[in-house]
Amino acid sequence: MKKLLLILGDQLDLDSAALKDIRPKVDEVLMVESAHEAQHVWSHKARITLFLSAMRHFAGHLKDLGFTLTYIQHSPKTIVEELSNHISSGKFTHLVCVEPGEWRLKQSIEALASELNIVLEMRQDNHFYCTHQEFKGWVANKKELRLEYFYRLMRKTHGILVDSDGNPEGGQWNFDRDNRKPFPKKGPGLIPSPELFEPDDITKTVLAEVEERYADHPGSLAHFQWPVTRAQALQALQGFVEHRLSTFGIYEDAMWTDTPFGWHSLLSSSLNLKLLNPREVIDAVLLAWKKQDLELATVEGFIRQILGWREFVRGMYYLDMPQMALDNFYGHQNPLPDWYWTGKTNMKCMQQAIGQTLEYGYAHHIQRLMVTGNFALLAEILPKDVCDWYLAVYVDAIEWVELPNTAGMALFASGGRFTSKPYIASGAYIKRMSNYCGSCQYKPDIRFGENACPITNLYWNFLIQHRTQFEASPRTRLMTANLSRISDTDQQAIQVHAKGLLGNLNAL
Ligand SMILES: Cc1cc2nc3c(=O)[nH]c(=O)nc-3n(C[C@H](O)[C@H](O)[C@H](O)COP(=O)(O)OP(=O)(O)OC[C@H]3O[C@@H](n4cnc5c(N)ncnc54)[C@H](O)[C@@H]3O)c2cc1C
Ligand code: SF4
Repeated sequence: MKKLLLILGDQLDLDSAALKDIRPKVDEVLMVESAHEAQHVWSHKARITLFLSAMRHFAGHLKDLGFTLTYIQHSPKTIVEELSNHISSGKFTHLVCVEPGEWRLKQSIEALASELNIVLEMRQDNHFYCTHQEFKGWVANKKELRLEYFYRLMRKTHGILVDSDGNPEGGQWNFDRDNRKPFPKKGPGLIPSPELFEPDDITKTVLAEVEERYADHPGSLAHFQWPVTRAQALQALQGFVEHRLSTFGIYEDAMWTDTPFGWHSLLSSSLNLKLLNPREVIDAVLLAWKKQDLELATVEGFIRQILGWREFVRGMYYLDMPQMALDNFYGHQNPLPDWYWTGKTNMKCMQQAIGQTLEYGYAHHIQRLMVTGNFALLAEILPKDVCDWYLAVYVDAIEWVELPNTAGMALFASGGRFTSKPYIASGAYIKRMSNYCGSCQYKPDIRFGENACPITNLYWNFLIQHRTQFEASPRTRLMTANLSRISDTDQQAIQVHAKGLLGNLNAL
């Protein structure tokens, strides 16, 4: 009996369930760098570099530990094609892997194993708190699938920020009111830098290869300093809890010109590649809370993102695929404007969010949800185009987390299956949460005509168009109440202006 063990580029953990009973000298490990992975969406160079460099570092650790490893660099084939070639050698009786995060890859591996008649041991990924079965169990009998109730259950189940009776620490489950403030008028002040990692020789080689092989791909490599090993990821976690967690909560939604990272953790890529386990991230945060006497609001705000949102969207992805990738509740069909790939737009907020995305492969949650995502929804862009963009341009982008956030949350493409309302906002929100509008040629409070903010115009246009839907829900009724304060003539002018914008989005 000889086992073939497949390790994917986002399964880089020596404690992986797949490695548990492997016999280093008998069984064989396979790792594949597939060009197809970089090209099936037009990936940012930093995203490609991160995956390849982290994989090569991990392969080095496996070799040092004495594993028999086949590592295929820059294959033009897909992972499944390489796997198929390998299995066809006839050397193996078993194929072992951890369940892929991506739904389609899981289906393809299962299909291949059955076609080639090899025993498949697909093991549960131990990098999540909630299993698919547990999530399904929670979903059963629920009328509404909402993060808040799932998150409370996770807190109780795992004894995180609850007392011995299961009551929430500090007497409340949610501290959103204390969090989510804009930066002071004078600006964010001095924010301690996140931990950044100078490229070592392996990363330098990958950087050069990516510049050569993927020269026409979007994004810059000038600032590539992401963690590519577990040791670096642990250092990044330590740096975050020591220097940046204290102020994370209060400013988690704030935005400011040329301030790409704010107080955010920048841990998503390490978590998604499995260089870090969410349990050790939450443990470190809980420890820092006690040691540094941090505000409960900031600690709860951070834990909500990992124990709540991250687990919730993963559960929804596996529950709703493949339908989630096809959802288009509003039937939107506009193509993605070209400037999403260049940042060359006159809208300052979009310029900033897209500009830093191309520069670093990073934007924080509110920039993704309420700037680029909000615009894409209001501009009636085809969800598939938008999802492909998000999957391409962020270093942390992997479909199981990108798709539910984009299609489900930002675009309301699943029609409120797991969100209570479309996340739409006018320029007034962006003005409140950032300083972007101050240097913009548009004015956030003008709804139509010269200098009208496109986001404000499209926001009111959206409300006019979907008035009946918004009036039907108590969560959104207030938004349409504001609409009744706008005269019929002005509403018509809003729609005429919007028609002009929607007909020529590339000109914005
Ligand atoms: C349209 C859209 C697309 C997104 N695509 C991705 C993606 O491809 N990959 C990805 O990891 N996150 C994605 N997110 C979620 C979130 O924006 C990023 O996780 C976060 O910005 C990463 O930065 P950070 O590590 O500094 O996060 P922090 O703000 O410091 O948050 C801490 C951690 O919480 C987790 N987290 C926070 N919000 C979410 C969320 N909504 N869903 C899942 N996990 C969350 C992340 O692991 C993150 O590292 C997306 C959000 C939106 C609105
Ligand atoms: S005025 Fe409108 S387009 Fe300009 S930065 Fe503000 S919200 Fe963005």
